Amino acid sequence: MRNQLNHYINGEWVESTGSETIDVINPATEEVMGTISSGTEEDLDKAVKAARSVFPSFSQSTKEQRIEWLEKIANGYEARKEELIEVMTDELGAPLSISEEIHYEMGIGHFKQAIDSLEDFSFTEDRGGHTLMKESIGVSGLITPWNFPTNQTATKIASAIAAGSPVVLKPASKTPFAAMILAEIIDEAGLPKGAFNLVNGSGSVIGNGISSHPDIDFVSFTGSGEVGETIMKNAAKTIKKVALELGGKSPVIVLDDADVETAVKTALSNIMTNTGQVCSAGTRVFIPQSMKEDFEKAIVDLLPTFPVGDPRKEGIATGPLVSKEQWDTVQSYIEKGEKEAKLLVGGTGKPEGLETGYYARPTVFTDVSNDSVIAQEEIFGPVSTIITYEDLDEAIRMANDTVYGLAGYVVGKDSETLRHVASKIRAGRIKVNDGDTDFNGPFGGYKQSGIGREWGDFGIEEYLEVKSVHGMPSS
Ligand code: NAP
Ligand code: MG
Repeated sequence: MRNQLNHYINGEWVESTGSETIDVINPATEEVMGTISSGTEEDLDKAVKAARSVFPSFSQSTKEQRIEWLEKIANGYEARKEELIEVMTDELGAPLSISEEIHYEMGIGHFKQAIDSLEDFSFTEDRGGHTLMKESIGVSGLITPWNFPTNQTATKIASAIAAGSPVVLKPASKTPFAAMILAEIIDEAGLPKGAFNLVNGSGSVIGNGISSHPDIDFVSFTGSGEVGETIMKNAAKTIKKVALELGGKSPVIVLDDADVETAVKTALSNIMTNTGQVCSAGTRVFIPQSMKEDFEKAIVDLLPTFPVGDPRKEGIATGPLVSKEQWDTVQSYIEKGEKEAKLLVGGTGKPEGLETGYYARPTVFTDVSNDSVIAQEEIFGPVSTIITYEDLDEAIRMANDTVYGLAGYVVGKDSETLRHVASKIRAGRIKVNDGDTDFNGPFGGYKQSGIGREWGDFGIEEYLEVKSVHGMPSS
């Protein structure tokens, strides 16, 4: 059991001023794996005050100092690798291999990238008629979700440190422990007191507290659209800048020259990786009408190559959903899907032999209409929809017929067509034939998928204000 009831405020682990706690459940066992404090407004105030007091000096720290802090954090992160992997497997339910290859690697990737980006970053620029200065935006409130416990904390924290912006982090209550390990690592890296603070607690108290706080200048949030909207409303009262990453319903466009097996692997890995709890998951798969029969057959054949089961067991590709709540949501979407479309594989209920744990059956619907509920709403589970198209223009039109625009995928051979489709999808990140991820590539959404960009140099810019100075005497 992890009973970690302290918050990290002003360079120290401190007791909560309240006595309420939150249990953290292991989704594979349904048992309580630990407890955290449900922080109070007073706790948050203390953290904001600490961040505010260090702001004048932290914002003036040199690039070299910031690089040194980031390097220490990256080293500390590597030293705690095994523990981070285990904790994420227990709190999120991610198979050990996924905790290592995706979650751990993304966390370290962002710290290393921030160092690289910072090395080339110019905080002052002579632009002919004026001099541009980029300065820390101020105290930043970070609110992160449970689906990527290290990726989302790491990208936000690394960018903020690179920009010299002190932060107050509220991690998701379902997955707080990886974030608390990160806080211990940051503590050891010797950042100035108050530059990094972590307050645990509920969305309603600490989350609303951050977005409404008059002494917080910027909020970076990742999570649901509903909460994103609340954050914007609260932030409006003090004209706070907000960055929001709110998920999507991303298209996978399969070209008619695509290898069917390759395309099916892309479609399936999109719903099986992290049990489909991925904001950028490609959950609407557009295939040429002529490919339908072969594609459906390959889905059924290849699904067993993604075994579902105990995340601590070797060879498992997909673990349980994060919570009972998430399991119920996914079930209700599968029920809707059974009315709206044809069930190709999967369905409601739990997979055989997995009665304990929030396991869902990997489910693929076919004969789906793009305007049905299962093709328009984010399900956040192992559920895919197959939609056929007659010609590429129709595929692109349907792909863009969504309120979201976070990501898109194209699978096929002809390079001109791949480029054409990539340019036509209205979304912030496109993957062509499962291309490798570049940590310097901006991540964020068009339309209702959000506002702003994270990762790399674009991520650092979020934590900066720009100032133009006119008539500066030359040095
Ligand atoms: P959520 O409520 O948006 O939670 C995300 C984060 O926001 C958590 O830290 C949460 O705190 C916090 N929060 C909750 N209410 C808040 C408020 N009023 N003000 C500020 N922060 C608040 O997401 P969820 O309920 O866990 O999941 C629901 C759905 O959201 C999912 O099914 C999925 O569709 C979507 N989602 C998207 C992403 C993404 O990556 N874009 C990630 C997660 C979920 P607590 O943990 O304490 O509640
Ligand atoms: Mg919620």
